[in-house]
Amino acid sequence: MNETLKKEIETLVRLQQIELEMIRLQQEVDKVENEKKGLAARLAAFESALEADRLALAQVQQQCTDLEQEIQVVNDRIIKSNETLRMVKTNKEYQVLLREVDDNKKRKNGLEDHVLTLYEQREAAEVRLKETEAQYLELKQQILAEQAKIDELTMDDREQLAELEEQQRSIGESLNPALLNRFRRIARMNQGQAVARISDETCMGCFMNVPPQLCIEVQRGNQMISCPQCSRILYHIDEE
Ligand SMILES: [Zn+2]
Repeated sequence: MNETLKKEIETLVRLQQIELEMIRLQQEVDKVENEKKGLAARLAAFESALEADRLALAQVQQQCTDLEQEIQVVNDRIIKSNETLRMVKTNKEYQVLLREVDDNKKRKNGLEDHVLTLYEQREAAEVRLKETEAQYLELKQQILAEQAKIDELTMDDREQLAELEEQQRSIGESLNPALLNRFRRIARMNQGQAVARISDETCMGCFMNVPPQLCIEVQRGNQMISCPQCSRILYHIDEE
């Protein structure tokens, strides 16, 4: 048995275990990150609704102000006409002004009815905005709590992942670059698995039979043997 080869294969097996565990952990972390993103998207959607309610209130507030100013203008006209009315000399002038006052009063009444409707709308918009704000704050707190919980749950996974990355790096540096390249190439073809145990003349990577002569070569351990079916580097463990 070639001791260097034995050590190399042991190292590759260890590297593979590390990398498969890293993939598993990364999937866990990704899943949780997606959950967090989903929560953030929900909050963002609610923020848009809140913004729409704010805008609706601002618009109706502006309409109220505009209308109040218009009423003020009409009212000023009525006051002015009434003052003039006291000073006119002819009946004809009097009649004209009286009609003018009358028209403006009608106009003012119409505007006042309209502004009352707008006040109701403004009040409704204020109530709606307050409700939305309260719901938003509640949702925000809920989501922040959920995100914090998620972070806590994956803390161990993240720490473990960082540790495994460090191990992967140091093993990679310790290996012969040509061997590491071979390992990487085979792993890419086989969902991250570049080494496979041989058991009962079967490759445990692809579960195909390995010719007896090759099995013997693997057991002897004098050279690196690949599975003829899946190309994984084969190794043997004595099953006693
Ligand atoms: Zn195989």
